[in-house]
Amino acid sequence: MKSMPAYTIKFLTGSQDLYGDETLAQVASNSKKVVEALNQSGLMPCPIVWTPTVLTPEGIKAELEAAQADQGCAGVIAWMHTFSPAKMWIAGLSVWKKPLLQLNTQFNRDLPYADIDMDFMNLNQSAHGDREFGFITARMDIPRTVIAGHWGNTHTQERIARWMRVACAVADGKTLKIARFGDNMREVAVTDGDKVAAMIRYGWSVPYYGIGDLAERIRSVSDADTNRMVDLYAAEYAIQDGPDPAYTRTHIREQARIEIALRSFLDEIGAKAFTTNFQDLHGLTQLPGLACQRLMADGYGFAGEGDWKTAALVRTFKVMSAGCEGKGFGNSFMEDYTYHFGNADRDALVLGAHMLEICPSIAEGKARLEVHPLGIGDRDAPARLVFDAKPAPAICAAVTDFGNHFRCIINKVQVVKPEGPFPKLPVARVLWKPEPDMIRAAEAWIYAGGGHHTAFSNIVTADMVRDWAEMTGTECVLIDNSTTEASLRNELRWNASYWR
Ligand code: MN
Repeated sequence: MKSMPAYTIKFLTGSQDLYGDETLAQVASNSKKVVEALNQSGLMPCPIVWTPTVLTPEGIKAELEAAQADQGCAGVIAWMHTFSPAKMWIAGLSVWKKPLLQLNTQFNRDLPYADIDMDFMNLNQSAHGDREFGFITARMDIPRTVIAGHWGNTHTQERIARWMRVACAVADGKTLKIARFGDNMREVAVTDGDKVAAMIRYGWSVPYYGIGDLAERIRSVSDADTNRMVDLYAAEYAIQDGPDPAYTRTHIREQARIEIALRSFLDEIGAKAFTTNFQDLHGLTQLPGLACQRLMADGYGFAGEGDWKTAALVRTFKVMSAGCEGKGFGNSFMEDYTYHFGNADRDALVLGAHMLEICPSIAEGKARLEVHPLGIGDRDAPARLVFDAKPAPAICAAVTDFGNHFRCIINKVQVVKPEGPFPKLPVARVLWKPEPDMIRAAEAWIYAGGGHHTAFSNIVTADMVRDWAEMTGTECVLIDNSTTEASLRNELRWNASYWR
């Protein structure tokens, strides 16, 4: 996904009117400089909007109400430059439903040993002002993220930028439509779920569309449009003609028609994510393969077999990493497909893939465009992109429905270079080593009830997904190098009592 949708983040500086005009003028000037520096860092995914210092309960409530009502405002960063008595924040925070970042910073980086006096101490008070604010957000149980660090420090700025990306993705979810072509795959449990609960929690709307309507549109795609699309394919991918070039090209043309029809259908209904189901392809001659791969590369969320939760999560990752995809760094729909156990637990790997639909944003090098029959379903051989993924640290994440709440499970993984070329495997694939190792990760994932479908990313970090879970009221289970079976099973039991 090339660019972030047009959101802003509001910056609120807390103080009170006891300090007098001179100090408050200094507070305003300092907070303006902080916001300017963040905006000019080149790291922020969208503009941070400075607001005059808030000094009273009425002023705080008015600013938070305005930000709450502003469709373009994805969240608020709050910083207590001085002490700001937190009872003043209760009325405002009571109406606040969007992401909140408490930035615990200070204008002055270092203690001015030679010059420090009580005026300096009274002006640079976030060390205790932010604790007062922290108490009230904890007391009111407001979902929030706390970042401590000097505002001029690149590491602090990067953390703020990542939080902003997550806030933008939460905002995107509030209007996200996930079109389902076909229902959930028959009898599959984990991909199904409560669509009403998901809309209440995330804003996701999950309407159904008859596959026949899409089939009709595919048949009406013009030859000229199809030719243009096939030319694009030839420029972007290495087309493998195989023993019968005419056969290959005919099948690629059909996939181009599917892509054109799908794209116009989704844009017309305002859907940024979609699912397909290979059991329900009425009127389609091929399962959409290349079409899904290219739409994902353009920022659409996708998952197979009617899995709308994973499609929504892929879209969420696309927004979180808007503007960062490229050179093998990206996001994709993924499935744990096959294991490599090897001689020892530490050698064990997972081979991830899907029938066809892996996003080429994670490809190492140029993807090959190939046509092969599909061993499952009863349709023509579909065109698909085949590639290996870029070796890099990554995450796999899934959202599952536990009836009374949603659980997000994340596993940190390391994508590795395959030992061999997989000459007979006609799909895109990703070979990875999970943390802490494949054996323990698989056990933990299965204990946590995570399904076989995931959203995969080598840009979005586990911390970002944890922030997303915090902002949306989702249980979050992280499987990484610190995970042990005993701690994970206890965590699941403790979480169950919290989320019940
Ligand atoms: Mn699947």
